[in-house]
Amino acid sequence: MSNLPDLKTIIKVPTYSLTLPSTGRKISYRPFLVREEKALMIARLSEEPDTIVATLDSLVRACTFDNEGLDTLSVQDYEYLVIQMGAKAKGETISLRQPCKEPVPITEENPEGTCGKIIPIVCNLSDIQVEHNPDHKKTIVLDETSKTSIIMRDPRMGDVAHIVFDAGKEGKMLDPEANMKLRFQMALSCIESVVVGEEVYDAKVLTKEWLNEFLDSLPSGHLRKISQYIDTMPKTYLDVKYECPCGKVKDTIRIEGLQRFLA
Ligand SMILES: [Zn+2]
Repeated sequence: MSNLPDLKTIIKVPTYSLTLPSTGRKISYRPFLVREEKALMIARLSEEPDTIVATLDSLVRACTFDNEGLDTLSVQDYEYLVIQMGAKAKGETISLRQPCKEPVPITEENPEGTCGKIIPIVCNLSDIQVEHNPDHKKTIVLDETSKTSIIMRDPRMGDVAHIVFDAGKEGKMLDPEANMKLRFQMALSCIESVVVGEEVYDAKVLTKEWLNEFLDSLPSGHLRKISQYIDTMPKTYLDVKYECPCGKVKDTIRIEGLQRFLA
């Protein structure tokens, strides 16, 4: 055994760096190893949100040299990081192919009546951008007279991972009540502090019970304001230009939900 080459010295895993889009923090990372991809695949197959979340968390920690985890990364920073890690492992570009739907005269050879030529769509993952919605406001004013407001923060991946993977189970659709409950939990985890008059209460000093009671006792319109905060969170997207060889179709598509490329 001792004569076999030491894997640590023959295989060098490269290190890269990137700037997280929402915080501007610069971090170092390395791509997934085969062993880690396998672990992730097995976790995904289990469809157990707890298993998937725990596996992803240990993977992110290992690949960022223990500097980041699901509890330190906002959702969009997590997405961005995972895409970049995948891009380094599998290549910076992803090619999609789509038949052209431009109408053409129906002939015997072409009974479909569409151009049908294959349009190559090349997505360059290094061009990923983050869209910030101007309606995404950190401060939510609840009451002008008592000067009560909530200061929100973007949810960390750890806050929403269970929601994402639970809802993503095959064929599983959340009923409206469960959906409402999850949104409520998510809103709760995004509260950074509560301001009453001149006093600022950090969410860390407020108990979960108190915050629950607090949200429960708000007029229902306020919950919509909190929901809006979640709905307007920054999103990652990629604008891709494409052109059919026929020359008639030329456009740009916006691709969102980029993680599915690398799942
Ligand atoms: Zn065409």
